[in-house]
Amino acid sequence: MKEILEKLYSTGDISDYELKLLIENTDGNISALLTYYADTVRKKYYGKKVFLRGLIEISNYCKNDCLYCGIRRSNKNAVRYRLTREDILSCCEEGYSLGFRTFVMQGGEDSFFTDDFLCGLISDIKIKYPDCAVTLSLGERPYKSYKVLKQAGADRYLLRHETADSGLYGRLHPSEMSLENRKQCLYNLHEIGYQVGAGFMVGVPFQTTENLIQDIRFLQDLKPQMIGIGAFIPHHDTPFAREKSGTLQLTLKMLGILRLMFPKALIPATTALGTISPTGREEGLKNGCNVVMPNLSPVAVRKKYELYDNKICTGEESAECVSDLTRRIESIGYEVFSGRGDAI
Ligand code: SAH
Repeated sequence: MKEILEKLYSTGDISDYELKLLIENTDGNISALLTYYADTVRKKYYGKKVFLRGLIEISNYCKNDCLYCGIRRSNKNAVRYRLTREDILSCCEEGYSLGFRTFVMQGGEDSFFTDDFLCGLISDIKIKYPDCAVTLSLGERPYKSYKVLKQAGADRYLLRHETADSGLYGRLHPSEMSLENRKQCLYNLHEIGYQVGAGFMVGVPFQTTENLIQDIRFLQDLKPQMIGIGAFIPHHDTPFAREKSGTLQLTLKMLGILRLMFPKALIPATTALGTISPTGREEGLKNGCNVVMPNLSPVAVRKKYELYDNKICTGEESAECVSDLTRRIESIGYEVFSGRGDAI
């Protein structure tokens, strides 16, 4: 097993069979060595820097019905909200004064957010904060929409592929959604010139080791600048309410493997990681992550953007979230970097 890991460290790739052995291995010494290698590679390219992104959850209206997600349209118990232009701009203002130089606008697929609305908003943000990057995470949109949003000034787009196996994709999504379309969106974003983020959930119902390997192979084909992965966590008002969460152990292993295969990628220690374990984000940073995304949404709406149960950071003010995360980052020997933090 050590040889496989050394091969992955020195060449950046191993076979499907070797990946399967590594993913399924439960030896603590192997995990510790993977952590060490992942951190070595991360430090080679990014030093001890951790990039900050201010996350603004702009709407929880969603026309989709993903079986795992708490804001799916069938969840009649979700209390819906949508931020106004002014709300979003004041989140940016607060974020800027807290040191953020990237704003991530994420939301459900809400048809209120037309191209005109978003283009106006994006160009306002870019005029006011020319030193900041704007990242969008608003789901699947037509090619033309991605194109005009880019022209308006958007820099990056996050769209997790969720799973690269069409059979599994079909079990996690309603029949009107397709993996093919999701992948096409990612290739379109790439072609248009966005810095692209893809990714998947770990431990989602029905997922096999082979599925995780397919996710890795898809990412190798797409070559995204950002890779977001997080443990699946059930939401009580979804069909997966009674399913088990993904584990911290497997998520950390996947993060370490991804760092070795994508040495220059921007990989966040996600909120989901902090939700499955109190020190999950710190563990993520030690296993190759180099980004954190503190919440900048107005406190009044935070609990409503409930993708899964027990989501952390829904009660504090933005400033508290940032100082808490900064303390956590520094406590394990890394440094907060307050610039745009583009991929190298
Ligand atoms: N509508 C946007 C944003 C989706 S929410 C889009 O389609 O990209 C952002 C991510 O949260 C999703 O891509 C999914 O991977 C993750 N997510 C949703 N439900 C989750 C759950 N129950 N557990 C863990 N992660 C979840």
